[in-house]
Amino acid sequence: MRKHNHSHGSHPHRKIPVNEPIISPEATSYVIDAMSEGWVSSAGPVVRLFEQRFAEYMGLKHAITTSCGTAALHLALQTLRLRPGDEVILPDFTMISTVCAVLYTGATPVFIDSDPDTFTINVDMVTAAITSRTKAILPVHIYGHAADMDPILELAASYNLAVIEDAAEAHGATYKKKLCGSLGDIGCFSFYGNKIITTGEGGMIVTDNDEFAAHARRLKDMSHDPECRFRHKEMGFSYRMSSLQAACGVGQLEHIEAFLDKKRLIAAQYRRRLSGIRGLRLPITKPWAGCVYWMFTVLLEESFPLSREAFCTAMSERGVETRNFFLSSNSQPLVQDLIGDQGPFKVSEKIAEQGLYLPSGLALTVDQIEYVCNVIRDIVE
Ligand SMILES: *Cc1c(COP(=O)(O)O)cnc(C)c1O
Repeated sequence: MRKHNHSHGSHPHRKIPVNEPIISPEATSYVIDAMSEGWVSSAGPVVRLFEQRFAEYMGLKHAITTSCGTAALHLALQTLRLRPGDEVILPDFTMISTVCAVLYTGATPVFIDSDPDTFTINVDMVTAAITSRTKAILPVHIYGHAADMDPILELAASYNLAVIEDAAEAHGATYKKKLCGSLGDIGCFSFYGNKIITTGEGGMIVTDNDEFAAHARRLKDMSHDPECRFRHKEMGFSYRMSSLQAACGVGQLEHIEAFLDKKRLIAAQYRRRLSGIRGLRLPITKPWAGCVYWMFTVLLEESFPLSREAFCTAMSERGVETRNFFLSSNSQPLVQDLIGDQGPFKVSEKIAEQGLYLPSGLALTVDQIEYVCNVIRDIVE
């Protein structure tokens, strides 16, 4: 461990980034293969191969690539044929993409506060939010921890609602040993650069439902009439993934188990080195959750000696990047303007203020983790 200065790894003047991906050599070589064979658009065998491999991994019939995770969420909701006035229940604490996907369809997002332990949707609060206009529940497996799916699936069955899972941060995460994204009607993934499997930019819809799959496949490519190409009965979208992205995805997916092991190792290292610091709350995981720690999150509680701003500034001065949690969706000016105030959301607002994540990228080394933890102990002492 280099304690003599702020250096780490081979980049002495670079900060330890919140997220540095690993691009596997296979991913690189498959991209080069696709390029040299001339498969660059979404046409050709590469996109289908990535879809087949991902469907196999998920244990589901269908996987449909998209241009990004937000597009996957939008398409999933679009297959429900939502109309203005319809309502979709989702957690207040999530990335803005989840909220925008609902807004794109014209439906109204109905926000639910978070569970204080896992930061996922508080399932005890969902029943009270269901109305005659509710069409779907959209749980988010936030930061790699599963939402409590059984109560959600039971409610959905008794009120005849669709369940769309936002699993953008939860590749390989499990709920009661089942993969997140495979529990509801449709699961949605992102392959953005900081996600567990990346294609640079990209997304995927997964489902066992033939009808949803066929509809989503049409919608993502401008909704050509299946009987007559270039005739259009329905408004479509241009949400295709390119073969280059898919080639990268095939190569990344071959390493998913190693990537997940690395995420768990990072979390275990942080836990071991950061336990017992006053006011620093480490992630709480439920026994039913196989958490993949997309990001290693901490809360700076009231008893923590520094404000979050002072803490992050001190970290940054010592070469460690951190990132604050998402904001409460309800507090977003966009949401306030479009649908007004549904709050307060006590838990969501509090974790949004107290939460941050530490460097958690797949390329992080144990030395770097040790450095980060030493910096934290230094700052609080
Ligand atoms: C990353 C992410 C998305 C959106 O993915 P993009 O590929 O960036 O569009 C959606 N939901 C959550 C929870 C995410 O973290």
